[in-house]
Parts: sequence; structure tokens; C-alpha cells
Amino acid sequence: MDYRILGKTGLRISRLGLGGIPIQRITAPEVRPLLEQMVAAGINYIDTARGYTVSEEYLGTALEGLRDRFVLATKSMSRTAEAMAADIGISLKNLRTDHIDLYQIHNPSMAELDQVLAPGGAMEALEAARQSGQIDHIGLTAHSLEVFQRALELPQVETIMFPFNIVEDQGLALIRECEKKNIGFIDMKPLAGGAIENAAVVLRYILQEPAVTVVIPGMATPTELAQNLAACEQTGPLTQQEQAVVAQVKKDLAGNFCRRCNYCQPCTKGINISGCFLFEGYLTRYGLEEWARGRYEAMPTHASDCVDCGLCESRCPYQLPIRQMLKTTAQKFGM
Ligand code: SF4
Ligand code: SF4
Repeated sequence: MDYRILGKTGLRISRLGLGGIPIQRITAPEVRPLLEQMVAAGINYIDTARGYTVSEEYLGTALEGLRDRFVLATKSMSRTAEAMAADIGISLKNLRTDHIDLYQIHNPSMAELDQVLAPGGAMEALEAARQSGQIDHIGLTAHSLEVFQRALELPQVETIMFPFNIVEDQGLALIRECEKKNIGFIDMKPLAGGAIENAAVVLRYILQEPAVTVVIPGMATPTELAQNLAACEQTGPLTQQEQAVVAQVKKDLAGNFCRRCNYCQPCTKGINISGCFLFEGYLTRYGLEEWARGRYEAMPTHASDCVDCGLCESRCPYQLPIRQMLKTTAQKFGM
């Protein structure tokens, strides 16, 4: 296993880490063997979130006696100090630990980041928790380049998480900035939320980029873990055959993959367009049907509310056929 220092945190972590979203689709007792397999392979990085329902809790139970073998990272969507302090407390309890190595602000918009940084905002609670030793380091996760750019300038932020994979390389220049500024870069969604099937080639492609400190594919089975490990153990440049796979994936997904940049907003009818596609991905590719349906149904407007005005498509930098894609989403969810 290859290890890197996670930017300013100074933490020494394996270049392959566990993305904790799919923990939701297995049972609590199934998590322990996964962690044991990780220890045996030298993987020491675990990422989860308050928003991944049972993920923190299942991991906490499975970590009994293994806590010190892992660097634990989680995150919260809370934007106020009060809510963030409460979430940190819940995460500590769920993960059954007295300190969390890295606590991240989960995917704020620019407006939400203003709130996080303002008096009474979530950053106050994070800094207080760092001061008291409940958490050791502060990070931020983003999907928009504006938020990424701004996070690079925030002195409190020690790590940034952003998607980077074969079809999502829009953040590459900023990812390389992270390296220059000694900010740890955590690569989320390496398989583009399950849209890319050839995990081995994708991981090899990602790990060729030196500015990526750690990549965290979602893993929930020993087979997935073994496959990802095998890919990470292969060194050397991509073969011609692998390069052909990369080119094919780029071609296949170029016209129908949403990068969640939200440049298409605001929608005339208030539809959370990227959210619709995100939950559709969880429904069809991630095996998280109940969770995806619950989240989708809870949104105030749905794909079926689209009135075909086309405004969103004129704003999408990837020229996605959003209206057609929303029709497919509406069919799959029945609303
Ligand atoms: S086409 Fe549909 S999704 Fe796009 S802005 Fe108009 S109503 Fe919203
Ligand atoms: S539909 Fe296009 S503009 Fe909207 S979030 Fe997806 S990639 Fe960005």
C-alpha cells in the first residue's frame, strides 16, 4: 500500500480509502470483516457522513478495538454553530470514539459557505471542537468550482474533497493548487457515482495524478475491496488497452453525465436538477433504493414538474439534454 501525508493535517494515510456511502446497503455485522480486510491490506482511511443514515453507527460498532488503526473522517450538512456542535456530538457517539480525525463541512453552496463562516456559523463550532480535542482537523467537501476555489483560501480548511475521475476532470487545476498549498486532496466519486463500471482502470487513471492524496471509492463487500486493492497495487503508466477504455468511457458518458455543478440553476419550477440525477444514480446504480426514494420524494419539486422551458439547457456547460434526462428520472421514480 502506498501512503501519503494528508496535507496540513500531517496524517499518514493510505492512498486508497473507504467511501462509506454503501455501508448503508449492508448489515451491521457485515462491516467488521470489511474493516479487518482493510487492516490486513494496510488501508487506514475511512470516510463517512452524518447524512449516510446508519453508516457512522455501523462503522462505530465495527471499529471496536480497531479505532486506532484508522484515520476517521466524517461530515455534516449543518451550517449553524449550534447544529454543527450537535452533529459533532452525534458523530462521536455513533463512531464510538472520543475524537474524530477529520470533520468536514459537507457540500456547501456559496451562500451556505457565507453562513458557515459568519458569526454563529458552523465554522465556530468546528474550531471550538478542534480546540477541545473532539476533532483534530477541519475539511470541506464541494461539487462546485467556485466553492472549491474559495475553500483554497480559507485558513481553517486543511483538506478539500471534490470529484475527480475519467469524466469529471473540471477540478484538476484546483486539485493541483491543493498540492502547492499543502491542502490534502480527497477524491470522491471516483467511479462517477457508479456510472463507470471499470473500477480497476478508473482507479489506475486517478492514482496517476500525484496531487490526489487519497481516493475513496464506495465499498461494501470483500470482493469490491479486493478488486480496488488489486487496481491500486498495479504500478506504471496506463497500457494502451487501458487508455482505450478511458477514451471509451469519456465518449459514453460525455453527453449524459451530470457533474452537479448547478450552473443550470435556477430552474423555472424550482426543480433541484442535479439532485434528481443524483438520486436516480443511487436508485439505479448504487442499490440504495429505499434511501434514494425517500430523499427524492422529500424534495419539494420533482422531475415530472418540468415544463420544458429549456432555460436550464442553455446554461449547462456540458450541453446535457436535461429535459430528456429528467423525463427518464420521472419515469424511474414515478413522479
Ligand atoms: S426545462 Fe424544466 S428543468 Fe429546465 S428550467 Fe425549465 S422547468 Fe426547469
Ligand atoms: S445538469 Fe449540467 S449544469 Fe446542471 S448540474 Fe448537471 S452538469 Fe451542471
